[in-house]
Amino acid sequence: MLFSELVEFYERIEATTKRLEMTDILVELFKKTSPEIIDKVVYMTLGELYPPFVGIELGVAEKLALRALKAVTGASEKKIQELYGKLGDVGLVAEKLLTSKAQITLFIEPLTVERVYSSLEKIARTMGEGAIETKLQILVGILGSAQSKEAKYIMRMVTGTMRLGIADMTILDALAVAYGGSKEVRDVFERAYNISSDIGLVAKVAAEGGVKAIKEFKIRVGNPIRPMLAERLPTAEEILEKLDGKGLAEFKYDGERMQIHKRGEEIIIFSRRQENITAQYPDVVNYARNCIKAKEAIVECEVVAIDPETGEMLPFQELMHRRRKYDIEEAIENYPVNMFFFDVLYADGEDLTSKPLLERREVLERIIDVNESVMLTESKLVKDPKELEVFFLKAVENGCEGVIVKSTSSESVYKAGARGWLWIKYKRSYVSKMVDTVDLVVVGAFYGRGKRRGKFGALLMAAYNPEEDVFESVCKVGSGFTDEDLAKLPEMLSPYISKDKPPRVDSNMQPDVWLKPAIVLEIIGDEITLSPIHTCYWGLVKEGAGLAIRFPRFTGRFRLDKSPEDATTSSEIKSMYERQLKKVAEKPMEGV
Ligand code: ATP
Repeated sequence: MLFSELVEFYERIEATTKRLEMTDILVELFKKTSPEIIDKVVYMTLGELYPPFVGIELGVAEKLALRALKAVTGASEKKIQELYGKLGDVGLVAEKLLTSKAQITLFIEPLTVERVYSSLEKIARTMGEGAIETKLQILVGILGSAQSKEAKYIMRMVTGTMRLGIADMTILDALAVAYGGSKEVRDVFERAYNISSDIGLVAKVAAEGGVKAIKEFKIRVGNPIRPMLAERLPTAEEILEKLDGKGLAEFKYDGERMQIHKRGEEIIIFSRRQENITAQYPDVVNYARNCIKAKEAIVECEVVAIDPETGEMLPFQELMHRRRKYDIEEAIENYPVNMFFFDVLYADGEDLTSKPLLERREVLERIIDVNESVMLTESKLVKDPKELEVFFLKAVENGCEGVIVKSTSSESVYKAGARGWLWIKYKRSYVSKMVDTVDLVVVGAFYGRGKRRGKFGALLMAAYNPEEDVFESVCKVGSGFTDEDLAKLPEMLSPYISKDKPPRVDSNMQPDVWLKPAIVLEIIGDEITLSPIHTCYWGLVKEGAGLAIRFPRFTGRFRLDKSPEDATTSSEIKSMYERQLKKVAEKPMEGV
């Protein structure tokens, strides 16, 4: 396939903001693409080379990309910098410079998708001494053969700024139509994606074997399975009512979720957001190798930091000290961990995700050798709210956040990639008058005044709307930050600064600095109210109003384990708002 053909599609996608239109264009693109390269086309469209869990990223610095452009066009550095300052996009700079040079490139052999992909791959894989010069040469090589529009997308791809506004979910829609005939078969495509986290692989399997192959799509050790997530309710009564009177209550440990893949001696650890974090946890690798008896398995556990002196569980923040690339051995000693297993998704050839919870738990008990550092989650079958309340208090007393009550019905399968009512969390914070914490995405920042002059003083926070794939503003938060937190913010946020409002952000409030959605913070507030400014759940509860969090405070937790798409959703905020209204309505009026 010629790269120019792919670029034509990108131009059409860029020209629209309507998701349905984007889907139609993608369907056309996929139908035109041969099965051999469909995975590559899908990755490139998302601005990637591989599924994110592989961990190989392009991300060439803009400065280097502009140097390549200088070498290819002969334009002066001053001119390039001027243009870049004006356009703010390396892609547009390349397009502009190459347009004025078009006649020279006319007789050059046209670029193919394969050539561009393999060049980009070489750039991403080149490391070590002299890497920068080698990357530069390769980039100069393809830019030298590129037409102006092609150069625009090559520059955006290498610098990790593709931004076509397409998310995995839109690709899934398009794959279902292109290879399954209609969106009706989207569910099976979504399942394949949820159990592989690899949209390119799903595309390839569909292109080669149609819907039949997608229906037969199997779990693969080494491909992370997207996690099943819990809904929340504020009382033991409501939880048991929702679960038809009974459930398996488990301690909700305050640590990091890990999905562990075992293949013989090989152990891979994936985080909640499917990053490969194996290298950070050699101690967990060792524990897993010794305690998982199955030859091949995919199991899930919560890993908790413990006090090396007392053996007591420590809060989540302590574990974040383990998120580092260097001095790992020292960190293991200072922040040792325990593992609490709660699920098994695959064991020795058998996909267990469609089995009910108690059957999975039996397998888990069979394949895990427990010891003082490796355990199964503390659990209890409960039928009565009082019993659940007692178990909950025990969990809190033991340093847990609360409990998760899980359905034990015959339908209690493992629903990969879904938040649902089969698991219901019941947390400490629901008991107090305060609203539960939420995880929100930073989308903007305001400069501070007084003591905070010259620093960021407040942040614009947003909830995620997965249907529209946008981040909707819900509050501006300035309290709860320690001086240390404030000092950290510029470095943490600067890679995401955007000149204009990022395309996936929906906000009427104008911060001093826009930020691309990347960083997730845990926020707590006093209540949720209707707001004429914030865009969360806009117009759906009341015309001309969205939802906002009043008196928001940062809890001190940077949720580095969450991607922006894992943030609290706008509809969850709406449910919290409705529950809060219900509570107020139920409260007897004072003095009556
Ligand atoms: P939160 O923000 O409340 O920590 P989350 O958004 O990360 O939750 P949820 O689905 O809301 O994810 O809560 C489930 C999380 O609780 C899991 O992702 C896991 O990390 C953790 N957890 C702790 N103990 C258990 C358990 N026994 N079973 C399942 N998950 C558990």
